[in-house]
Amino acid sequence: MRAEWLKADLGISTFDDLLQYYPFRHIDKTTFYKINQLNESQAYVQVVGKLISLKLLGEGGKRRLVGEFADETGKMELVWFQGIKWVQSGLRLNEHYVVFGKPSYFKGQFNMAHPEMELLAEARSKQNIPKLHPVYNTTEKLKQKSIDSKAIGKMIWQLLELHGQQVVENLPLEVRKKYQLIDRKVAFRQVHFPTEPAMLEAARKRLKFEELFFLQFGLLSNKKKRLAGSRGHLFLKVGDFFNGFYKNHLPFELTEAQKRVLREIRADMGSGKQMNRLLQGDVGSGKTVVALLSMLLAADNGFQACIMAPTEILATQHHQSISEMLQGTGLEVGLLTGSTKIKERRRLHEALRTGELHFLVGTHALIEPDVVFNNLGLTIIDEQHRFGVAQRAALWAKNSLAPHVLVMTATPIPRTLAMTLYGDLDVSVIDELPKGRKPIKTLHANDTQRLRVFAFMREQIALGRQVYMVYPMIEESEKSDLKYLMDGYESVARAFPRPKYQLSIVHGKMKPDDKQQEMARFASGNTNIMVATTVIEVGVNVPNASVMVVENAERFGLSQLHQLRGRVGRGAEQSYCVLMTGDKLSSDAATRIKTMCETNDGFKIAEVDLQLRGPGDLAGTQQSGTLDFAIANLTEDSELLRQSRMALEQIFEEDASSEVGMVRTLEQFYASMRHKHKNWSAIS
Ligand code: ADP
Ligand code: MG
Repeated sequence: MRAEWLKADLGISTFDDLLQYYPFRHIDKTTFYKINQLNESQAYVQVVGKLISLKLLGEGGKRRLVGEFADETGKMELVWFQGIKWVQSGLRLNEHYVVFGKPSYFKGQFNMAHPEMELLAEARSKQNIPKLHPVYNTTEKLKQKSIDSKAIGKMIWQLLELHGQQVVENLPLEVRKKYQLIDRKVAFRQVHFPTEPAMLEAARKRLKFEELFFLQFGLLSNKKKRLAGSRGHLFLKVGDFFNGFYKNHLPFELTEAQKRVLREIRADMGSGKQMNRLLQGDVGSGKTVVALLSMLLAADNGFQACIMAPTEILATQHHQSISEMLQGTGLEVGLLTGSTKIKERRRLHEALRTGELHFLVGTHALIEPDVVFNNLGLTIIDEQHRFGVAQRAALWAKNSLAPHVLVMTATPIPRTLAMTLYGDLDVSVIDELPKGRKPIKTLHANDTQRLRVFAFMREQIALGRQVYMVYPMIEESEKSDLKYLMDGYESVARAFPRPKYQLSIVHGKMKPDDKQQEMARFASGNTNIMVATTVIEVGVNVPNASVMVVENAERFGLSQLHQLRGRVGRGAEQSYCVLMTGDKLSSDAATRIKTMCETNDGFKIAEVDLQLRGPGDLAGTQQSGTLDFAIANLTEDSELLRQSRMALEQIFEEDASSEVGMVRTLEQFYASMRHKHKNWSAIS
């Protein structure tokens, strides 16, 4: 019965599961405090002192037993509300006790409610009993069945007594030596029932390392297998399409970072293996042209290429900017989205099948089964965090031989997270913005400064610039958010009256055609202000827009704010981002706003975001499940992650040239471990 409850409520079904059901903290009974050392922020503490008096106070529901307790530094109160008779009869006045409880401060004095009491003499006689007591998570339901934290601890204790010796080491000795990791058997015992705080630390370090090590082992060995087994289209030629464009049509000089990334992509596509590369680059770093140049390489080698974007607006923008860049090259690029008309759709389908059409840009309409390519050689996925795994897999399947894949993301992911999430992709980074960009100035304004913000907008518009005003719409379907946007729009319309000012508005409830039209009016400079929700968050490019005003900025997350800000600062003019908030900010919100005002560096922002939100959230709900660690914590353990990665890379390297077969041994451990992370390999 117990086993079933444990499985249903806590997912524990094997010995290993139980051993890896780690306590979330320990109660420390190694340290003693003096009464004058107490403070309210302490969790449970123990104090040695003398019980001086016991009094019954209050009536009825307020009845309580109060004891006066003192050591040489001061006095405190011990209070019991329940079981008064029983407590009272068990206590002896003028004896020395060890009391254990949570201190709180009330009317000028510390007190403890319902402390544990043990006679000092008895406590002294129990020298050998562990002094750090594990505390486990459990559920209300389990508690009702008497499976509380203590009971779980007992089960684990028994398990260790019975089978503790059978725990098998799974890290190579050299690795343990080099990174100072204790034995696995010892680690399991100490992580639950530590003999001293230092051993608890050592045990946690060892088990975290192990967890991170095998997570990455899975990813790395997948990557090796993919590379060993895969064949990819061989793009050997750099031909007229690429060279002609590079010499005659490229509107600017590439940055060094763009050139480097392009070399990496070329090397991949010329290797005979399938490329699987993640391209990270901050907003505005110029990923689109890298994508286009890669597509031209595909065309030079007789292959088709496609780009998939997460929104219709973004797909349309890509299509537009790529069409413009391709003018005069004789290459055509098609656009396929949910709102492509039947007739055009048929034409595209046909042209793709015959191979007459080289390039296609679109939304997830691309993965529908009736989209058949003649010879798809390269698939580019923009802003990847918006796509699910299944959608990406569907694009792979568009050709008998999987196309090369380039995943582009503007969400800077801290290195630690990139390593774990994309451990089996190769990663390229554009870490340099095009020359001549002026850093965006970011300001914080509260609602009382609205008129000044409007005045500032008028100044900028008078200079010929354009302005975005973004309203939060966390759920596009939320009526209150839509109303908020419409109210906002009206107040902006009053402050910026026609005909002097022209406004555009875009939100998720509009028909795609209308959205398109409004975007186009703004992009072509026919309107001065774009009032919008976060639908414009991703990728939209209007270089003349130099001011981004975010309303209720406290409601946005950091990466979202950074994305939004990235919509400006794309031209040569000085750009501004104004974050409007209410007066009262939570401490997290204040940190977000402060960070935005202090830095433009997407990677720094991502680090702060990771600190604030934790890794699961950062990766988006789609992937958060994969970051369910039993003991490791990506926010805190980046150093262990780095070390375990180094250890693994060395093992893989040495394995190639030795007879020992360490990788095989690890493989067996990996397979036998009942991972929570069965789906790790499915990430990419
Ligand atoms: P993102 O990486 O955010 O997708 P884009 O590809 O949209 O960025 O590029 C942002 C802007 O920078 C575009 O207007 C683009 O034409 C321009 N751009 C890209 N690369 C360069 C470069 N090397 N020099 C100057 N401008 C560039
Ligand atoms: Mg982009």
